[in-house]
This record gives sequence, structure tokens and C-alpha cells, in this order.
Amino acid sequence: MIEIKQLHKYFGALHVLQGIDLNVSKGEVLSIIGSSGSGKSTLLYCINGLEEIQQGQVVVDGTPVHDRKTDINKLRQRLGMVFQQWNSFPHLTALENVALAPKIVKKVSRDQAKSIAEKQLKHVGLGDKLDVYPSALSGGQQQRLAIARALAMEPEYMLFDEATSALDPELVGEVLDTMRLLAEEGMTMICVTHEMGFARDVSDRVAYFHQGVMEEVGPPEQIFGAPQSVHTQKFLANVR
Ligand code: ADP
Ligand code: MG
Repeated sequence: MIEIKQLHKYFGALHVLQGIDLNVSKGEVLSIIGSSGSGKSTLLYCINGLEEIQQGQVVVDGTPVHDRKTDINKLRQRLGMVFQQWNSFPHLTALENVALAPKIVKKVSRDQAKSIAEKQLKHVGLGDKLDVYPSALSGGQQQRLAIARALAMEPEYMLFDEATSALDPELVGEVLDTMRLLAEEGMTMICVTHEMGFARDVSDRVAYFHQGVMEEVGPPEQIFGAPQSVHTQKFLANVR
């Protein structure tokens, strides 16, 4: 599980995360909602050790992420991440893109990497695009390729940072469907999202962030049906 204890993060004088306490259990799907600048992305980066923290702790499967003795590269293999902007290698085919990390990081054989890549591309519905270059894929397909790349490392957790925000509206659904499939398969997921329908239907819990504070966390029925915080109420009134 992921345990976040009294996490404080500053960028200079800016107190970006102000004492976050949050546990995410195996198999759980947590959506994080909140306005821009509330610290959602920063939280994800703190979870996979891309950002230093100033106080508190993040523990993944018993291993403190920010401990000097922790092998962060090894730990990161447990945490797949998908960003808003798709970022695959343009000179590699879809298959080669997905096979790359298993080959280089996990040091599996070329054939094994290829079969992992094929499996994960089929998993995200790109089984017919193995030999296609990213430039020939739609935005939605490119995001699914990014998901396949993350899955190829066989992570325990998937972190999504607004995976659909940069997409044309008609391409959002196919990426959400892929995320929904992973959730149904039991993947543990933290999804920063503006897709309230997804947050409501797919999440076990929804967390609302406001100015570096997790103001509210609970089952979707509670957050959407009876939000406690006035900020949550205002936010939801505006996004609906
Ligand atoms: P969100 O993802 O909720 O939109 P972020 O986590 O990206 O919010 O940002 C939270 C706050 O931290 C914002 O005020 C942002 O400007 C600031 N911030 C984010 N990254 C950096 C950085 N590398 N250096 C300085 N300030 C940053
Ligand atoms: Mg963000």
C-alpha cells in the first residue's frame, strides 16, 4: 500500500502540500480532484520520488520513498506513471516504445520484451498498431500507448496525472475506457482527473484538494452527493 504521513512540500516559500495524510490500499482506485495549482501533480511526484519533500513521509509497500538508503529506481518500477502529455519516442514503433523499458531497465531478452510489448499493446486496444510510429496515432491512441509503456514494467500502482486533459473531447472516452478496464482488473490507481463522471463511477474514494490541503476524502457518493467543505461545494458547482 501507499502511506502518506503528514507530508509537507515547499517550493521556496510556497507551501504546496500542507500536511497530507492519505493511505491507498492495494486494489483501490483513488481519484484526486481540485482546482489548478492545488498541489495534485506535486503529490504524485512526491509519491514516486520525482520531488523531494521537506517534512513527513511517503511509504510504498513498506519502503520510505525519500530515504537515502532507498533504491529509488527500483522502487519506481512499482509505480507506473502517465502524464497529460504523451511522451513516446518518435523514431520507435509502438512495439519498440513499449519494449524499451523492459529491455533496458528490467534487462529481459529482446524476445521477451517484444512479447511483453505485444501483450500490453493488445491490453490497451492497440493490437493492430504494433509497427506503427507514434506520429501516425491519434492523441487517444498515443495516450493508450503511454499506458502500455507504463504497464510493460508490471507496476503495482498506476499514477495518472490528467491523462485525458490534453485530448480532443472525442478522444477522451477511449482513454477513460482503458483506465476503467485497469481498475476492473484490480490495478491500484491514483488518478488526478477533471473527469467527474470517471471519478464518480470508477473510484472507490475521491479526494478533494484545495490550496495544498486535502480538504475532503471519501466515497464518491459522499464527495459528489454531500460534500462537507464549502470549497468542495463551490468547485463541484463550477465543474458540473
Ligand atoms: P495542480 O497539479 O493541482 O494543478 P501543482 O502540483 O502542479 O498543482 O502545483 C502546485 C503549486 O506549486 C502551484 O502553485 C505551482 O505553481 C507550484 N509549482 C509546481 N511545480 C513547481 C516548481 N517546480 N517550482 C515552483 N513552483 C512549482
Ligand atoms: Mg497538475
